[in-house]
Amino acid sequence: MTFDFVTNIEQCALLVKEYVPLGLVYYSHIPTAIIALFMGILVILRGKGLLLNKIFFTLCLTFSVAMLINIILWTSYDSRMYMFFWSMTALTEVLIFILSLYFFYTFIYGKDVSFRLKLFWFLLLLPIIFSLGTTHNLMYFDTDACVPVEGSVLSTYILGIKIFLFLWLFAFSLIQWRRAQDAERRKIRIVALGLNLFLLMFLSSNAFSSYIVDEGLVSPTVGYSYELYGLFGMPVLIGFISYAIAKFNIMNVRLFGVQILVWTLIFLIGSQFFYIQTRINMFLTGMSLVLIIIAGFMLIRSMKRNIQRKEELQIMADELANANERLKQLDRVKSEFISIASHQLRTPLTAIKGFVSLILEGSYGEFSPSVRNALNKVYLSNDRLIQLVEDLLNVSRIESGKFEYTFALHSLEEIVESVFDMLRIRAKDADLEFTLHMPSEKIPKIMLDEAKVREVFWNLIDNAIKYTKEGFVRVSVFENSGKAYVTIEDSGIGILSEDIPNLFQKFSRGKDTNRLHAGGTGLGLYVGKKIILAHSGLITFESEGENKGSKFTVMIPLDFKPEKEKNEKE
Ligand code: ADP
Repeated sequence: MTFDFVTNIEQCALLVKEYVPLGLVYYSHIPTAIIALFMGILVILRGKGLLLNKIFFTLCLTFSVAMLINIILWTSYDSRMYMFFWSMTALTEVLIFILSLYFFYTFIYGKDVSFRLKLFWFLLLLPIIFSLGTTHNLMYFDTDACVPVEGSVLSTYILGIKIFLFLWLFAFSLIQWRRAQDAERRKIRIVALGLNLFLLMFLSSNAFSSYIVDEGLVSPTVGYSYELYGLFGMPVLIGFISYAIAKFNIMNVRLFGVQILVWTLIFLIGSQFFYIQTRINMFLTGMSLVLIIIAGFMLIRSMKRNIQRKEELQIMADELANANERLKQLDRVKSEFISIASHQLRTPLTAIKGFVSLILEGSYGEFSPSVRNALNKVYLSNDRLIQLVEDLLNVSRIESGKFEYTFALHSLEEIVESVFDMLRIRAKDADLEFTLHMPSEKIPKIMLDEAKVREVFWNLIDNAIKYTKEGFVRVSVFENSGKAYVTIEDSGIGILSEDIPNLFQKFSRGKDTNRLHAGGTGLGLYVGKKIILAHSGLITFESEGENKGSKFTVMIPLDFKPEKEKNEKE
């Protein structure tokens, strides 16, 4: 493939100088390229090995290369070089778009994109790569207009791809921004804004100059000079990215990096005073310098403040963690104390129970009815104490993780029935209608810890009797879709709505005096819930309110398999 080369384009260089001040060419290229390169290097040095940093570095590098190519184009006199570098611009520019998108994807997901996506991006580049050095890319050099004439198919393709990639980034950032919340959202907003503005400035200046050149509105040299303004998109991007770095510490670049960046910006812009001549440029550069100094120092200050705040937060978090640890330790000590105390209490209480029953049975001789009456009271009070100690021991066992279960197949109906029978006298004494409803068909046996499940039903039925002054206590056992249910209904004092949230908490007892008069510890439901949960079941309750009775329901799945069993089968 041959180009229609011209060997001497000095007159073109003169033409360029006439329309486009070299000052603007240098000003728009050199500092931006250096800043981009500097930022890229800084980011990659500070966050070694991080993919996001690598992509950002590559983006900055590609941008700097594009800048270099542009400078060569604006200042070159050699047509071969001219044609070669002009043909490269398409590649670098589309690459910048792809890298921006790649950067944003990695930023959002925190990991590399899929191979398929990368392949797709690469495929987009293929036509451009294959067209390099062919007339599809550049057709010939127009010596009158002093510009190479681009192949129309490829240039349309490139513009289309750029618009497509820009819209992709725009839509993707919009979706991600809307989906995110709080700090994440602010972070996405800043990075997305930077990237979108960067590409938009690039794209619009590109499209605008191509359009006015193609339409013949201005001479190509003048038209392409508008592209220079698009390059200011890079400092805009860097500004936003620096802000995101400072505020959210993206890419792991800390204060130090930002300080260096600000100083470099000041230095770079300041250095322009050495080669600008026109008054208007002097003024513009001066303004930029003042702006960058103000913005830079505000940035550093806000970052310092941010870091300070983070440190303070860290200290507070550490203190909280310490306090939490101390509380946990205290809780452990308390549980241990309860455990030891309860064990010590249990022995004498059991001895009292044994001896009192022996006396009541007459093993120690005859005694008057009034003594029997008193002894009966001693016996009952002692029983309550034993129950209390047992509850306390259970709580301390649960809390220290020593609450162990021994599962075996048992009939739920038999357990409920035996508890029911044992409490029958209590219900009769309280003058309550006390009924038990059994299913017509037997419920299959379930894996249960018999003693513990018995304790649960004891407590629930005992509560129902305890908290019901008159009326009924109704116990029902039934099966429904693979689950066994036991309900304990009463017509008692009911449960106040304010007591509901704490019902299954340890040591929680109903607030009104009615409840407090009835003996109890507020541990029964807490322990009961743990036991039923260990059987993969649930305890639920319903109460329409004060004095409207209560209904507790225990559910245990028929096919419940304890952990050990499961392991053995696996
Ligand atoms: P307690 O030893 O106080 O009975 P529980 O843990 O068994 O402890 O019960 C906690 C609280 O729940 C009780 O103090 C009582 O306020 C309420 N409660 C439990 N069962 C009933 C019921 N059947 N009727 C009314 N209130 C009940």
